[in-house]
Amino acid sequence: MIKDNYSEINARILEAAKRAGREEGSVKLIAVSKTKPLSDIYEAAEAGAMDFGENYVQELSAKLDEAGDKYRFHMIGHLQTNKVKYIVGRVCLIHSVDSLKLAMAIDKEASKRNVIQDILIEINIADENSKTGIDSSEAVSLIKAASELEHIRILGLMCMPPATDDPETSRPYFKKAREIMLEAKEYVKDKPAFCELSMGMTGDFEVAIEEGATLVRVGTAIFGKRDYHI
Ligand SMILES: *Cc1c(COP(=O)(O)O)cnc(C)c1O
Repeated sequence: MIKDNYSEINARILEAAKRAGREEGSVKLIAVSKTKPLSDIYEAAEAGAMDFGENYVQELSAKLDEAGDKYRFHMIGHLQTNKVKYIVGRVCLIHSVDSLKLAMAIDKEASKRNVIQDILIEINIADENSKTGIDSSEAVSLIKAASELEHIRILGLMCMPPATDDPETSRPYFKKAREIMLEAKEYVKDKPAFCELSMGMTGDFEVAIEEGATLVRVGTAIFGKRDYHI
């Protein structure tokens, strides 16, 4: 089942990319496996999944211990500065950097470990009070400042529009993220590397692809509903 779901989502991604006139392979699927057991990860891997998204440091850390040498793990959830030590140098990409303080903590840990940690800047794209992410008006200045840090590399932006049943509602937010990306590009040190837009989930990934997403984070449509009572 998980295998079939993964293949079906991948096929829909290819279709959406084609419709949008984008190159095959320009969009990567990240299977969001938070709250799901390793056995589910192994099943998705049978269908070709290599990239997995996780939200909780403790759970992510345990999965890295077990399977971190086989797969690429992405930190997509809110990250506290005192927890960076558990994941820096072990995850391929941290999607959720939303303050200079957090960027500096990651940089410091990466320096200690003698690695360069790839990150994305998370934008609170609808400027919701309840959401994590840097305010969209402050995003460019955060990118400018974080670009000075030597042990992180900023690959792009991440955003999560307000929850909705209608994917079209997300479209203007995806457009806005792309505009911020273009505006910020002139301030980053490694311009060619600054090309990733992490946006689109189960409900809206096809619209996100039409608006330029390069990384889509899909959980429910692959692994089924999540049970948070774990
Ligand atoms: C849980 C989560 C997802 C996956 O959401 P689905 O709707 O289950 O596809 C994607 N991105 C983030 C940041 C998440 O927390």
